[in-house]
Amino acid sequence: MLDFNQLIIHDSIYNILLDTLDDSLKSHLIELESDVDRSITDITVNKDKSLILSIIFGKLYFKSLQLYLNSDIENGIIKSIVKRDKNNLLGKLGLVIKHGRLIKGVHNYSNHLQEIIEVDLNNWYCPCYEYQESYSNDMKLTINPLVTSNTNQFQNLKPICHHLLTMLIHINNNKD
Ligand SMILES: [Zn+2]
Repeated sequence: MLDFNQLIIHDSIYNILLDTLDDSLKSHLIELESDVDRSITDITVNKDKSLILSIIFGKLYFKSLQLYLNSDIENGIIKSIVKRDKNNLLGKLGLVIKHGRLIKGVHNYSNHLQEIIEVDLNNWYCPCYEYQESYSNDMKLTINPLVTSNTNQFQNLKPICHHLLTMLIHINNNKD
């Protein structure tokens, strides 16, 4: 059963970085622990749910997750912006990497737009190449959106690309 609900959770940026930094930067971060505000949070994933989705979708899931974490999504339009690399997360804690070490400092954000893509969830369509390809690959990458959303308009297996998967993450984790 596909379950995207509460895939996206909040956690301390300090903890997120401990999971993602390489060993040498990780040990610098631990040295700086007393200088870091561990109450500053950001979004991350529920690891158990993430593992299941990665088994089901493989690379497509990781691409979608990266896009979700690095985009602004509104009305089916995904604007991808690099906002979630290690430099940005460290910057939120007031840290920068200099000469391979972590020091206190200000990170200059450069959130420039990478790509804009508009998906059509009502017609379950994305104009990207990946989507077109999933048709021609005998519908290899497919999903039944019925199990992941409240709408019952999609009854059958449909092709999927990482943009549509990103939208499913978005829809199931941005309920007001
Ligand atoms: Zn697509």
